Amino acid sequence: MRIIRTIAEIRAAVRDAKRRGQTVGLVPTMGAFHAGHLSLMQQARANNDLVVVSLFVNPTQFGANEDLSSYPRDEERDAALGAAEDVDILFAPEPAEIYPEGFTTTIHIAGITDMLDGASRGAHHFDGVATVVAKLFGIVAPDVAYFGQKDAQQVLVVRRLARDLNLDVRIEACPIVREADGLAMSSRNVYLDADARRQAAALNRALDAAQALADAGERDGAALEAAARAVLADAGITPEYLELRSAEDLQPVARLDGDALLAVAARVGAARLIDNHILHSTS
Ligand code: AMP
Repeated sequence: MRIIRTIAEIRAAVRDAKRRGQTVGLVPTMGAFHAGHLSLMQQARANNDLVVVSLFVNPTQFGANEDLSSYPRDEERDAALGAAEDVDILFAPEPAEIYPEGFTTTIHIAGITDMLDGASRGAHHFDGVATVVAKLFGIVAPDVAYFGQKDAQQVLVVRRLARDLNLDVRIEACPIVREADGLAMSSRNVYLDADARRQAAALNRALDAAQALADAGERDGAALEAAARAVLADAGITPEYLELRSAEDLQPVARLDGDALLAVAARVGAARLIDNHILHSTS
């Protein structure tokens, strides 16, 4: 596995691969790899000739009071894990390579970014995500890019970005990888102390409770949300949001008819965690 830090070098490597007729898969990450990241790499490895993983803690998607400076970083460990997944290139640029002096462009995707995490974290968050993903697509020019369904709103934002800007890349969403007790894997789980770690498992249990109620025939969105909220309240968690939304456009869903996204964000101990399930009506 090569570690590349400059745009010129990654462009040359991708150009060589494409000249040989190879397909290119990109996995964008902020590092601190866990099994969720590795699952995206495995998917990319299985379906592409050249696998590029980007490792960049993107400053523009963090708010002023968020965890940019404390975000877990361990490039050496990440490089070993990437190499073990047979990744070809780890693209790990310095911030100045991505945002040189005088950088002034921001991509803003309207509508789906002003709710859920966009409302909780502020508009800058998805502006930062859309801008850096557009740049990574411009730099790497992948055939396929892999994202985790854990960040369900991010997947929709990236799909909209690619569609609206006619970017020639296929977006693949991969399933959420969980710990044994159901907690969605996240780089931020390292912020949890033992008590908070136990408490955090309630997020997935809450989403499960809503699905169980849907399986029992409940279709009322507010009732499904209330079932999940009750599990969170039992665990002493007050969510930043817990909402049933359309899995396509994130509009509120009053009645479950087919599939819908039940998404949650909550502070648990020192971490802000997100999770979601796609709820299904069985009838
Ligand atoms: P991050 O490094 O947190 O920006 O995540 C990089 C990519 O990994 C994103 O597409 C995430 O959605 C994805 N990801 C993070 N956690 C998980 C998980 N538990 N399961 C599947 N994918 C994940």
